[in-house]
Amino acid sequence: MNILVTGGAGYIGSHVVEELVEAGESVVVFDNLYTGHREAVDPRAKFVLGDLNDAGAVKRLFDEHPFDGVLHFASHTLVGESMQQPFLYLGDNVTNALNLLRAMVDHNVKRFILSSTANLFDAPERMPIDEKERIVPGSPYGESKFIIERLLYWMDRVHGLRYAALRYFNAAGASPRGNRGEDHLHETHLIPLILQTALGLREKITIFGDDYPTRDGTCIRDYIHVTDLAQAHILALHALDKGSRTYNLGNGLGYSVKEMIDAARQITGQPIKAEIGARRPGDPATLIAGSETIKRELGWAPEFASLEAIIGTAWDWHRTHPKGYEV
Ligand code: UDP
Repeated sequence: MNILVTGGAGYIGSHVVEELVEAGESVVVFDNLYTGHREAVDPRAKFVLGDLNDAGAVKRLFDEHPFDGVLHFASHTLVGESMQQPFLYLGDNVTNALNLLRAMVDHNVKRFILSSTANLFDAPERMPIDEKERIVPGSPYGESKFIIERLLYWMDRVHGLRYAALRYFNAAGASPRGNRGEDHLHETHLIPLILQTALGLREKITIFGDDYPTRDGTCIRDYIHVTDLAQAHILALHALDKGSRTYNLGNGLGYSVKEMIDAARQITGQPIKAEIGARRPGDPATLIAGSETIKRELGWAPEFASLEAIIGTAWDWHRTHPKGYEV
């Protein structure tokens, strides 16, 4: 298939591109490189520099390439930032998705995969959280993804576009091939911050609150390896002709912040200084995915579910690329 990957220079997108080209697909990456890295794009993929807010550029992209499907990662993705700059999310994220969908409809491209989020579940009634859970977006970021899920519903009904909305829990880890990993300019994510502390690039890691109603008082999350996420995209892509679908994606296992730091101490052999700080606004106590539906329907079987694999591959990446892609 000829696949367009928007945001293919970003953390998750670049790992999915790698698995797509490994599987023999022909890939075009479209990315504005605001947060992504040109070096993260597998050299077997074609790279086009551009912005989804430029409807003319998007049209030209589709005029020039006969795409069979689109995987959409390009997005603002930070919960905290969205609480401060909601228009980036409720504006740009939604408008850019509309530009993309318009070009798809105009060019009769009928397969779409959305990178969605667990931030749709701010008030879960059951744990693990499966696809039947009530949608309560936790931020303008989550709301922007929910709006795009609704756009897709109507594109399916009106235009026969088939989509999969994949709601990731905490994407983590790095390619087991060792050539790409997580590299954000302003890092906010737990595992890279812990590992930067292990490397001595930071003095300590701050635990955001230890008074949550969890087993040790720190927040519990479901960490899923980015390569397992990538495989889920490939399975979903091949299943689309049988209909649109929505899946929650995680390992179904929750680890607290303290447990993650302890596991990283074991894996790295470093002391990793930690201190307790204030809660971070917007963090729910516990998020664990119920992913039985994608396992049952598509046979998705995570290969790197253990903390050893998740933190271990991330550690290999950070150790060998302490400055990320700059090295
Ligand atoms: N966290 C923390 N200290 C940090 C960064 C994150 O205690 O410096 C916690 C955060 O409160 C959350 C978990 O680690 O409970 C995962 O946060 P991350 O930002 O990696 O992902 P999110 O759950 O926000 O998608």
